[in-house]
This record gives sequence, C-alpha cells and structure tokens, in this order.
Amino acid sequence: MTTHYDLIVLGGGSGGLAVAERAVQYGQRVAVIEPHKLGGTCVNLGCVPKKVMWYAANMAHARHEAEGWGFAPLHDRVDFAKLVAGRRQFVDNITQFWDGYAVDLGIDIIQGWGVLTGANTVSVNGQCYTAPHIVLSTGGKPLVPPVPGAALGITSDGFFDLEILPERVAVIGGGYIGVELAGVLHALGSAVTLLDMLDSVIAPFDSILRETATENLQTLGIKLHLPFKVQQLIQGAEGKYIESTSGERLGPFDVIIWAVGRAPHTRELGLEAACVRMQPNGIIPTDEYQNTNVPSIYAIGDITGRAPLTPVAIAAGRQLAERLFNGKTTAKLDYSTIPTVVFAHPPIGTVGLTEDAARAEFGDTSVTIYETRFTPMRYALSAQGFKTAMKLVCVGENQRVIGLHMIGDGVDEMLQGFAVAVKAGLTKAQFDATVAIHPTASEELVTMKTPRSDT
Ligand SMILES: Cc1cc2nc3c(=O)[nH]c(=O)nc-3n(C[C@H](O)[C@H](O)[C@H](O)COP(=O)(O)OP(=O)(O)OC[C@H]3O[C@@H](n4cnc5c(N)ncnc54)[C@H](O)[C@@H]3O)c2cc1C
Repeated sequence: MTTHYDLIVLGGGSGGLAVAERAVQYGQRVAVIEPHKLGGTCVNLGCVPKKVMWYAANMAHARHEAEGWGFAPLHDRVDFAKLVAGRRQFVDNITQFWDGYAVDLGIDIIQGWGVLTGANTVSVNGQCYTAPHIVLSTGGKPLVPPVPGAALGITSDGFFDLEILPERVAVIGGGYIGVELAGVLHALGSAVTLLDMLDSVIAPFDSILRETATENLQTLGIKLHLPFKVQQLIQGAEGKYIESTSGERLGPFDVIIWAVGRAPHTRELGLEAACVRMQPNGIIPTDEYQNTNVPSIYAIGDITGRAPLTPVAIAAGRQLAERLFNGKTTAKLDYSTIPTVVFAHPPIGTVGLTEDAARAEFGDTSVTIYETRFTPMRYALSAQGFKTAMKLVCVGENQRVIGLHMIGDGVDEMLQGFAVAVKAGLTKAQFDATVAIHPTASEELVTMKTPRSDT
C-alpha cells in the first residue's frame, strides 16, 4: 500500500477537494483524508441542502401569493418527509458523484481522522503517511455556548436531521445561517421566533440591508427579539423555554436552534506535534499564499478564518495547487471584493465595502451614496409584497463603485454580474452608460440619478 504522496490533504470538503483535483491534474500523487462523506459542510450540511430548503420555502410563498393572480387558494401543508427524502437523495447523488470522480482522477481517499505527527507526516487509524506538502482544510462546526441547558438546543447540523416539521421553533442567532433557517421554517409552516444578543440581524452587513431584512422578517410574521442575551434553556412540561440575562422568558418551543457562529475544526489535529501555530480561537493564521508558519503545511478554507464561503475555499485551493505544482510562484487568491448572498426571503446580496467601512477608509467627503427602495412589480397583484432596497457606495471624483448592497427578489442571481463590475473597478458613469433591461428590478442599479442628499 502507498504511504508516500506528493500531497496529503486533511479534509475532503470544498477546499480540500479543489486543491486535490488540481494537483492530480498536474500529475501529483494525492491522498485526501476524510472521516465522513466527501463534499464537506457545503454538500452535506450547508449550502446545498440549505438551498433545497430555500427553494421549497419559495414555492410555499409563491403558493400564497398566487391567489392575487387568480389562482384558487391552496390550504395543504408541505409533505415535510417527502421534501427531506428528496433533499437527502439529491445530496447523496452529489457525494456519490465525488466518490466516483475521485477514483477516476486517481485521488486516494483515506477514510478516517487525520492527525499531524510532524511537518511531513500524518497518522490515520494508526497508519503513518508522508508527503512534502500537507494541506489542512478541515473546516468548522457549529458553536454551542456553554450556558445551562444548552444541550436542549440543536444546531444547523441538527436542522438537517429533522424528520418532522416542528410547530414552534426558536432560532438563536441573527447571522446569515439563523436568518436563513428562520425563513425556511416559517415559510414551511412553523411559528418562528428569532433572537440575537445584538439589536440587529445580519450585523456586519450594510445598514440598508440590516434595516430592510428586519422589516421583511417582521412582515413575514417571524417574531423578533433584539437584543436578547440568552442566560439558559429550560425544559418545561409544555416544551422548551429560553431565559434571558434580564429574566425574560420565551416559549414554549418544540425545537430551539443555535445559530451563533462556527468554530474551526482544529483541535485534536496534531498541530502541536507539527509546531503549526493556532490562534486561541482555533483559527490557523496563514499568509496571503495560504502558508502556515511551517513551510510544508498550508491551510485553506474556513479554518483560516477568512470569508468562510465555499467558493473562497475552492478558489484558495486551486490557487495553491497552481503555485505548488504548476510553477505559478505568485498564484494566490485575491480576498478583496468577494460577493455573497444570504438566502433569506427575499434574498440579500452584497459585494465590496459597506457605507460605514467606506467612510472609515476614504473619509466622509469622498463617499457618495445612491440608494433606492421600491416594491417590485413581482408583487403587483399579491396581497403582501416585500420591498427591494439597493445601495451603491461610490468613492472619489470619478465615483468608482466600491460597494453594492441589495435585498429583494432575484438579487441572489443579479449579484454575480454586478460583482464583476465592482471587481473591475467600474464607475457610476459606466454603470449608467449600460442600457437598462425593462421591466426588471435590476435596471434600478443603472438608473439611479440623484445621490442621497447627505452625501
Ligand atoms: C448551514 C450552512 C449554510 C451554508 N451556506 C453557504 C452558502 O450558501 N454559500 C457558501 O458559499 N457557503 C455556505 N456555507 C459555508 C460553507 O459550507 C463553508 O464555507 C465551506 O464548506 C468551507 O469549506 P472547507 O473546505 O473549509 O471545509 P468543509 O467543507 O467544512 O470541509 C471540511 C472537511 O474536513 C473534514 N475533517 C474535519 N477534521 C478532519 C480531520 N482531522 N481529518 C480529516 N478530515 C477532517 C470534515 O469532515 C469535512 O468534511 C454554509 C455553511 C453552513 C453551516
């Protein structure tokens, strides 16, 4: 059995599979160590199953709205078991694809937990493997804070284990995962309460998104408690309860979901044995080339604590393979201007600097803001509609667009193209020189004429 490789990858998720795939394409002998199914968080417990649920939620919304457009009312609820079975089959198909594709490529998949035993050695199930290059891409897992009764709650992993749609749900955490899960459960028929220790949801995002997302959650009928700092979870006769540090009690709930962040999977990885430096929060710091402090060991993806998103892990892995195995000595991922979407209802898209960040970096007088709020034609005949809001953050005399933030139907698909424009450094005048597509919501992004009066 081979135990020496050109590259050993710990973690067969988004980043790990990307670096492995590119490395074998350059003729390297590669092993990927993975204790679970290939595909990692994104495929098994993240983006993919989440997006299936988001599509189901959109269909639930569309069924309600259809009445205004002349369709007969529909009162039946989702067949949750059928939805979950379909989702699991879809995910299984992807992991099975990866199993076969890895074999076709010639990647050795070693099932088990990898532990570093030195700068060039890894142990799996008691067997030692060696390589001149080792990539750490072990991702993360949901955080559960150490409050009394914490184990009464589940996490996003547990959400994907649900077999029955819960009647009463509380989601603790108004970050992107919390907002997404709350939206899905509400649309499918659960009564949902969402709380956060901060006074706003999706806190790091631009103010226009935070405010509009909060309005939308309220319009949907999701009960918001902001700010609410959890003291403890309690099991009562009627269900589970959440108590705040100020003595407020919420409940009863059938299910409570912790969505308060994720911790890197870096404990018990043997980092000390290999002298790899780790921050107290478990993150492995790397330079811009994904190098750790140990020359033969690299880290990519969520464990590096930078932009924890699937395409970021993939791009970092591919760039690293280009540098190590294709002679591109300066290949590296540009971490600036990364677009991202929150699959809320309606979705949220953002790329570049927020207004606050732009002001802090360039000064108030250099920043010009264009923004708009409107109810899109999509809701012309619906009983209830969600506002679309858009903001362009521009800088300098020539008004280069350095931030683009939007919330509303369709922005999830709209953002990718506009992210190209922002990444390319286009100006407001160049946006405006593009002929609008009518009637769409996206045409607003090339037709905003007047800057906000205070900018
Ligand atoms: C609910 C949810 C929704 C998300 N939605 C999105 C989204 O819509 N869009 C988006 O871009 N991102 C989304 N993400 C984030 C995305 O899933 C991650 O950023 C991405 O998976 C990170 O890839 P990675 O390679 O760093 O780690 P992962 O994909 O997590 O892969 C790490 C792998 O390492 C394995 N591993 C752990 N320890 C060891 C060890 N000691 N030895 C060997 N293997 C090990 C794990 O089993 C895992 O398979 C979501 C995440 C969650 C939780």
